[in-house]
Amino acid sequence: TSFSNLQLAAPLARAVAEMGYEQMTPIQAQAIPVVLTGKDVMGAAQTGTGKTAAFSLPLLQRLLKHENASTSPARHPVRALVLLPTRELADQVAQQIKLYAKYTNMRSTVVFGGIDMKPQTAELKKGVEILVATPGRLLDHIEAKNAVLNQVEYVVLDEADRMLDIGFLPDLQRILSFLPKQRTTLLFSATFSTEIKRLANSYLVDPVTIEV
Ligand code: AMP
Repeated sequence: TSFSNLQLAAPLARAVAEMGYEQMTPIQAQAIPVVLTGKDVMGAAQTGTGKTAAFSLPLLQRLLKHENASTSPARHPVRALVLLPTRELADQVAQQIKLYAKYTNMRSTVVFGGIDMKPQTAELKKGVEILVATPGRLLDHIEAKNAVLNQVEYVVLDEADRMLDIGFLPDLQRILSFLPKQRTTLLFSATFSTEIKRLANSYLVDPVTIEV
């Protein structure tokens, strides 16, 4: 399926065209229409399948469509949170989101551990609509009141199986406790283990399951 069938907002269509994407990958063809409806998604997909665009493009589209529904435009509250297990993955996803959002007014940043918190704090204080993060460092920023998550509309648990393998479940539970109950939750995992299904049962509402 071609991206032109999607009727993406002009700034997103422009970014996608500039990146040279023509056909959607299988995960994109399946996930994008569902995410556009606002439903929760449980997706089985590995890295390298185009998973990042599969959730980022429809999220951006929805953020653009419902711009600042409940908030003042000047404040830039975090509206979408993307959680990943490692700094490398967080950095990669954040770079890709920046490319997709290039022609929109949506701001994004990434926070992960192992480096000074100060530059991250400065970025967070400026305000971002989209925050990409690893769980431990995000909790540090929440505790320092640098990150306020009470207006999050979308959360993505990416590489969820790896997050559980690393032992991030307690951190994830804490982070999710700070988010509004009324939100969309997307979970991506290479496998649907018992633990992943349990996580999905606790945090997803009536999810659409996608396996490619
Ligand atoms: P991901 O699985 O999200 O890490 O994406 C893997 C790579 O595929 C990235 O370099 C993307 O830029 C690229 N990519 C994603 N979707 C498409 C597409 N529909 N057509 C061509 N390349 C793509």
